[in-house]
Order: sequence, then C-alpha cells, then structure tokens
Amino acid sequence: MSVKVDYYETLGVAKTCDDKVLKAAFRKLAMQYHPDKNPGDAVAEAKFKEIGEAYEVLKDPQKRSAYDRYGHAAFQNGGGGGGFRGDFSSSMADIFDDIFGEMMGGRGQTRRQGGNSGGRERGSDLRYNMEISLEEAYLGKTAEISVPTTIQCDVCNGSGAKAGTAPRTCPTCGGIGRVRAAQGFFSIERTCPTCQGRGEIIADPCGKCGGEGRLPEERNLSVSIPAGIEDGTRIRLAGEGEAGLRGGPAGDLYIFLSVKPHEFFQRDGADLFCKVPISMTTAALGGSFEVTTLDGAKTRVKVPEGTQFGKQFRVKGKGMPVLRSAQMGDLFIQISIETPQSLSRRQRELLQEFEEISSSENSPQSTGFFSRMKEFFEGLSD
Ligand SMILES: [Zn+2]
Ligand SMILES: [Zn+2]
Repeated sequence: MSVKVDYYETLGVAKTCDDKVLKAAFRKLAMQYHPDKNPGDAVAEAKFKEIGEAYEVLKDPQKRSAYDRYGHAAFQNGGGGGGFRGDFSSSMADIFDDIFGEMMGGRGQTRRQGGNSGGRERGSDLRYNMEISLEEAYLGKTAEISVPTTIQCDVCNGSGAKAGTAPRTCPTCGGIGRVRAAQGFFSIERTCPTCQGRGEIIADPCGKCGGEGRLPEERNLSVSIPAGIEDGTRIRLAGEGEAGLRGGPAGDLYIFLSVKPHEFFQRDGADLFCKVPISMTTAALGGSFEVTTLDGAKTRVKVPEGTQFGKQFRVKGKGMPVLRSAQMGDLFIQISIETPQSLSRRQRELLQEFEEISSSENSPQSTGFFSRMKEFFEGLSD
C-alpha cells in the first residue's frame, strides 16, 4: 500500500479547523480537480479521489477523532476500515449533491453562452411537400406557400416569462438541465427532475404563450423555384422552420419538390421524350407533323419517306433548361406507326392490290426474317 498523505494536508487545513473551514476547503479542491474539468488527467483524478477520501473521514466526528489518534491505521486492516470503501462511495453521492449546484452552475454559464442550453432548444425543422407541373419546372416560378409553424412570442420575446419577470436559473441543476449522481467513483448524468432539462424555472409564465416562448402561426412565404428543377429536389430555407423554444434558434424549412408526370413528355435530366404515333402512309410516303413544346412554341418535324417504327428524331434545344445555366436539353421524338383499322371495302381493295405488286425490296426486314430464323435453328440441330 502506498504511503498516504495526511488528510489535513490533503485538504490544506489545520488540524484544529472547524467543519465550515473543512467543507469550504473540500469544495474548492473538489471543483479544482473534478474529472469533468480535467478530462483524461490521471493525476488530477487521483488527487480528486484523495480529496474525497480525506473529506469523508474528517467530516465525520467519530472517524475524525479515530484518525487523529491512530492516523491512517484507523481505517486499515479491519480497524473500522472494513466498511470504509462502501461508505466512501455512498458518501460520495452526498458530497456531490452538496457541492453540485455550485460546480454545475459554473459549467452551465459557459455552455449557455454556446447557445445550446438553458432550455433554449432549437426549433424543429419543417417539411413542406410541393407539387409542380413540368411546365412550371420548365419556366421556374415563385410559389406562395402557407406553412403552419411557430414564431417567437412577441410579448415575452421568447423568454416565456411574464413581462417584468425573468426566468430563474434552476436551483437543482444550476442551469445545465442535467444532474449527476455518483455511482461508485464515477458519476452518471440524467435530466434534471426540477426543470425537465430546461435549466430554468419560469415562476410567472407569459400569459400569451403560456411559458413556451413561441406561438403557433400560419406563415406565408414566397419560394423561388428555379427553372430546370428536378423531381425530388429538396430546397432548404434556413431559419424558416419552427421558432426555437425560449429564445433558441429557429429550425429550417425543407421544401420537398415533386414534378407531376406530364401527359406528353417524359423527362430524363434535361432531355424530354415524346412518343408520336404517325400513320402508316405518312411513314411510307413521308410527310411532317407539328408538336407543341413546353415553351408553348410549335415545332414542325419532318418525316422522311420510309420511316420505321421506333425511329427517333432529335429537336435540339427544346428540352428542359439545365438548372442554373443557360443550356437547354433536347427533345427526342420517338415514332410509332399506327396500323390502319376499320378499313372500308375500297381501302381493303387498294391494300390488297398494293400487297400483290409488292416485292421483297419493299419490306426487306420481314422478308428475310423467317428464312434466316429457320436457317439458324436448322444449323444448330446439325
Ligand atoms: Zn434543473
Ligand atoms: Zn410569451
């Protein structure tokens, strides 16, 4: 066992000192060497332990007189020391309770300056779902939205306290909202039961907000939606969320933007796709058609003679704007060919006549297809 420093020396007091002096000396040293103030410092930790042990003995008149007579031996090898350890740790709780408010008060001040305590909670973030049309995404727009939120109470300026009064620092936790309880040598933190973690007690709550420091409100905001915005975009409006609690900072408002599916255009980034069915005769003979684009203009698309199903035409610069740039995507026209239905007798005759005078040159794909397929599978079975 290591040599123990004299308990009076440890606490820096005279042998004749009274309880008041003893307690004051202990408080001063305990605060100085508290592990919270000296994180990771093993020397301070050992010192803190020594201080606790010395005070534990000297504050008890019986133990103190035993120590005065026998020194450290009084608490070793069963000389009343059997239960000492257990005693020591349980009494550490008392010691903590005793000096706690003061110590934590000191810490609370610094934390509060950081704006993160004293019950000043940051307001919640809000989510607002907004659906816009593809045309609106194309042009961009300013949307007027109404958001149910909370604002700082104008009567108490967010403090929650009645006019002319101020919230008091919670006496239990000294303002930090958390209290410590000793668990052996270590201590654990929990939410302060007196103030529920707020760090402050409002004796006279503000009549308008009931002590919350904020009031519900429907807020009208105008949100600028840039041209070219994509489906699923999240727009953050900093500080437009709920007001903080008791003067804490406001949360943010997030606008979740979705772009409604369009009747005619599918979007892929900045490009647009449009399926256009044309008649069999237009596809065969050639021709043209007109499409209206998102800017409201009309674009004529030329169909060359012999256009096949699935052919894609590109109309440059008629897609979506590229976000925050002057560039434009393209519009892709995908051709489908409609087979004529509900034929009249005359149409049927003409088509039959057309069929009779057709050659393999008119339809090279279908003519060659079946013979190639047959050859392919016969070749495999050999
Ligand atoms: Zn408290
Ligand atoms: Zn108020």
